[in-house]
Amino acid sequence: MTVGVLGGGQLGRMIALAGYTLGQRFVFLDPGAESSAGHVGNLRVGAYDDEERLSELARKSDVVTYEFENVPVGSARFLNELVPVYPPPAALEVSQDRLEEKQFFERLGIPTPAFAPVSSREELDAAVTRIGLPAVIKTRRFGYDGKGQMVLRTEADVARAWEALGAASLIVEGLVPFERELSILAVRGKDGETRFWPLVENEHRDGVLRVSVPKSDAWSPELQRRAEGHAARVMATLGYVGVLAIELFMTGAELVANEMAPRVHNSGHWTIEGAETSQFENHVRAILGLPLGSTRTVGWSAMLNVIGKLPPKARVLAVEGAHLHAYGKDASPGRKLGHVTVRAESRDELHARIRELAPIVDPDAPALPKAIWPAG
Ligand code: AMP
Repeated sequence: MTVGVLGGGQLGRMIALAGYTLGQRFVFLDPGAESSAGHVGNLRVGAYDDEERLSELARKSDVVTYEFENVPVGSARFLNELVPVYPPPAALEVSQDRLEEKQFFERLGIPTPAFAPVSSREELDAAVTRIGLPAVIKTRRFGYDGKGQMVLRTEADVARAWEALGAASLIVEGLVPFERELSILAVRGKDGETRFWPLVENEHRDGVLRVSVPKSDAWSPELQRRAEGHAARVMATLGYVGVLAIELFMTGAELVANEMAPRVHNSGHWTIEGAETSQFENHVRAILGLPLGSTRTVGWSAMLNVIGKLPPKARVLAVEGAHLHAYGKDASPGRKLGHVTVRAESRDELHARIRELAPIVDPDAPALPKAIWPAG
């Protein structure tokens, strides 16, 4: 069986690395000839809307998935006429537009920040009056890693934001005074079987994910159940197959949905070593119609992203329990080049190892990530 993948970045690369052990083959379509997945699989270079390339991908594949959520929905639908595409293109469509996504959450009874669509200066003023300041303004489409968004605290910010972003379709959201940022990762098989990994706490800097820590005891089983309920409703509604991530703000006992990613997710990379079955393997199992694997955690783990500059490999690997994943990408500021998962047998041991690792992985900000400490 050959799996076609739209997108040839590190997510596609790690999907393939998991799928090879099951004997699958992989073919990727990506506009970049230097794509990271090209080192481990057959990379076809072409635009995502090039019908000739898409037809070729369909011919070579038994099933197609995607690792990049800004693939044109039209391309996913075109492919879906030729070969099964999972997750379903409808999931791609919802997640590409922040307004549709929030309306979708709202219809399913999943709490969201207050929000309003904005396409004129008058609508912006009306939205700010209704929602109040502080607020966040975002482009509805093509925003990622904090790009295409600004925080509004004063009237002057509102005017500045309109200057900077007014040309695009926008959404204004209330700024949620969250205590923690969490994500829930879930997988659904073709037969509707659904499994969840434990909630993950995520810490961002400059809009980019730095650290993910699963299985903190800072939240209750009730919060886990609530997050699972949200993900289950999203997946059942969409007839979903594959891995889904939902990013959530935790405010007290409440979980407020920020956005969803219809794909494997950076906050699930720890599952390669830290869970019985990784998000990548379960994604492959799901789209092939195979039984899903257990999502239970194996000991204690945390993931540190490698951003901008690869640390010396020998120093990372000298830390007991550390596993380096380098994506084979050229270094440049702000670019995700890899991640390190560190594993341990107890929380104290995990924290000691993170303390050792953090200054090696991120020498510019060697302060310990807050996320490793439980609440209180
Ligand atoms: P996003 O691109 O929507 O994932 O936003 C990037 C980051 O901005 C999030 O991880 C949050 O830290 C912050 N953020 C986005 N939207 C909100 C919001 N409505 N309230 C508070 N913080 C937000």
